[in-house]
Amino acid sequence: MLDLEKLLAAERGHLSGLVEAHINPAFVKCLKLLGFDKRYVRAAGAYLYDDADNRYLDCLVGYGTFACGRNHPVIRQTIQQAMNLDLPNLLHMGIPSLSGLLARELLNVAPRGLETVFFTNSGSEGVETALKYARAATGRPRIIHCDKSFHGLTLGALSVNGHGQFKDGFGPLLPSITTIPYNDLPALAREVARGDVAGFIVEPIQGEGVYMPHDDFLPGALELCREHGVVFIADEVQTGLGRTGKMFACEHWGIRPDILISAKALSGGYVPVGAVMSKRWIHDKVFSSLDRCVVHSSTFSENDLAMAAGLATLHVLQDEQLVENAAALGELLADGLREVGQKYEMFREVRGKGLMLGIEFCPPHSKMLKMGWNLLHKLNESLFCQVMLIPLLNEHRILAQVAGHNIDVIKLMPALVITEDDVAHLVRAFDRVLASSHRFPGPVWELSKRFAGSAMRLSG
Ligand code: PMP
Repeated sequence: MLDLEKLLAAERGHLSGLVEAHINPAFVKCLKLLGFDKRYVRAAGAYLYDDADNRYLDCLVGYGTFACGRNHPVIRQTIQQAMNLDLPNLLHMGIPSLSGLLARELLNVAPRGLETVFFTNSGSEGVETALKYARAATGRPRIIHCDKSFHGLTLGALSVNGHGQFKDGFGPLLPSITTIPYNDLPALAREVARGDVAGFIVEPIQGEGVYMPHDDFLPGALELCREHGVVFIADEVQTGLGRTGKMFACEHWGIRPDILISAKALSGGYVPVGAVMSKRWIHDKVFSSLDRCVVHSSTFSENDLAMAAGLATLHVLQDEQLVENAAALGELLADGLREVGQKYEMFREVRGKGLMLGIEFCPPHSKMLKMGWNLLHKLNESLFCQVMLIPLLNEHRILAQVAGHNIDVIKLMPALVITEDDVAHLVRAFDRVLASSHRFPGPVWELSKRFAGSAMRLSG
């Protein structure tokens, strides 16, 4: 038998070197520069532990994957059980064991009107699927998406990405794509009126930057789509499955999309899985004859271990009332951060819903601070937040990320299992880091000198 535990123990000291040599040298360099190259050796629930058994509150959770917490025992048990059952996995020419069960459970908790599911291996694959479905269902070419959107990095998904930085060097991308400003209903109205639009893809809350929709945006967009026969695609890869304090973020605005994409948290943090839920008429247009019954498919779609992970995740979310916990503790956290934030001139606002929060900073008024702010922003537009994350990790043992390129927003997305103590710790830590960043010269500004000239954005 391959003894993984022994292998890991023997190789622990080489892991960073191996990743640097064979996977991503630039990334490892960044981590080292920031001091983010900690030796995490285990994880449980909302926390990571390093080799000295220090506990870190993980507010990044694998870009939102570990909604139920890391290494959840119930999810693990279900997957182990699926393995022990010796199931006839990935038959492809036979009825799969578990996919129908997961489809039924998912549709039960999804907004009404969605009736079919296509399972994917990632969020991006879900987006690719939705774009294909919209075109096949309408016979039209054009897709509308929003500025500052993030829908993944495969070629089709990248084509509807609202950030130039991700696209640079990878063109030409898909034709027939139009970008509109987020929250701009008149722009959407103008575009859909042209009659060639297949679909409008939108994140109910934008993950990069944590930008919120105006209350009339999503309902108005849905109405426009209905009026013009355009498929409304809700990308809930990040916002779905409890993250925002509702099972799906669409529910905050009473939206019933034509297609809803889920992924990340559905995996339970164990086995990659995404799901594209759609209305039956759309599905019927794609798989329109016996001939076309596998016109869209994927080898690992409906993989039994992924289906088991999904079933267990939905069970845990409901059994442990994690959606309710996200709503309650998200509010507590946002209120706490706002209260301490008021004291500081560089604090602008906290926004988001549930446990998907963005903390935005703004230029200071006082002369000395302004000098530091301008200097730092001249070097790199994301540097200020990136530097704040260093004492947050080293002094307060909180792992978080910058919310996007060239913005002053820190994003917090802890596991939905966090407690009131975790919230109090987060608020206290932010108070301290904000206080120290408002001393110029001071430790935060000193730190920033270290990074002058380095391009250092670590986000996704
Ligand atoms: N859509 C959204 C809204 C996302 O946040 C992400 C991932 N950050 C994706 C799509 C892509 O998902 P994946 O990385 O699993 O391909």
